[in-house]
Amino acid sequence: MIGLTKLAPGAGSVGLSERPEPRADPGHVVLAVAGAGICGTDLHIADGEYETVTPVTMGHEVAGSVAELGAGVDESWLGARVASETYFSTCGRCPYCLAGRPNLCAERRSIGTHVDGAFAPRLHVPVTNLHRLPDWLDATTATLCEPLACVCHSLLEPEPAVRPGDDVLVIGPGPVGLLAAQVARAAGGNVRVIGTPRDTARLAAAEQLGLEAGAIDEADVVVECSGSESGMASGLAAARRGARYLQIGLAGKNVSLPFDLVCFHELTITSGFASTPSSWAKALELVTERRVRLEPLLTEVVPLAEWERAFAATRAAEGIKFVLDPQTT
Ligand SMILES: [Zn+2]
Ligand SMILES: [Zn+2]
Repeated sequence: MIGLTKLAPGAGSVGLSERPEPRADPGHVVLAVAGAGICGTDLHIADGEYETVTPVTMGHEVAGSVAELGAGVDESWLGARVASETYFSTCGRCPYCLAGRPNLCAERRSIGTHVDGAFAPRLHVPVTNLHRLPDWLDATTATLCEPLACVCHSLLEPEPAVRPGDDVLVIGPGPVGLLAAQVARAAGGNVRVIGTPRDTARLAAAEQLGLEAGAIDEADVVVECSGSESGMASGLAAARRGARYLQIGLAGKNVSLPFDLVCFHELTITSGFASTPSSWAKALELVTERRVRLEPLLTEVVPLAEWERAFAATRAAEGIKFVLDPQTT
């Protein structure tokens, strides 16, 4: 089968190539991939700024249906429409694994970086990764459950970063920012979203979601989703005395920031790396209760063969979320 592959370390070396057809190991399933979202991390992987074990099929924001069961997997999974967590294996013994924090396990291997991922027609994952989708949610839109689970981890674990009535400033109206803004609103925050002049379409989507676009002002909680040096600097400056600042965007390089503000304003800085099983449960609950809407974020479903166009559009921040369909090439 053909998959979009990171072929070698360093910048570039990304292309369509022949990949091994997976068979389901015991305790695992093979998914027929309905779609896989292109994420900022995929751009960092393409640029050689994010660790991978090459050659590897990229793609980790996935939904589809269960096509094959490994030994010991309950028959009820066959044909189920699901989204999948991103871990392929963890050690299961370290303090992080035992505390329900597999995202911090040093031996963690994830799909799309360490083992073959979802930019291919079929994907091999442990059955414990799977989350059933509500009937009304189509599978390509459901690829956004993965970034939502990451956002839920950052904003809601170990306890909610946003308290009811908090002024929340979300910097960067990309897919992650628009999900974070909705989660912060569901937690009771008064949310404003800010972007740059190139974000016109994204701010229009924010408006469609009922989110207010705001100028930089003071906030009790700053959620930095742009990963840009200027976004981080404005976020630190906007954080009120005693505020909380969450860094979700990745810069991919060292940045220069007014970090003394952390001290002068007694800021609490937190973050979250990837997702946890508990944050997936929260994400699916928010989607099922329709307190977070995913459809307005889906810009286009693109055939796998046209991946370069979709990557370029993601890089240029045209639209919001592009999903690759590996079944049509
Ligand atoms: Zn991602
Ligand atoms: Zn571990």
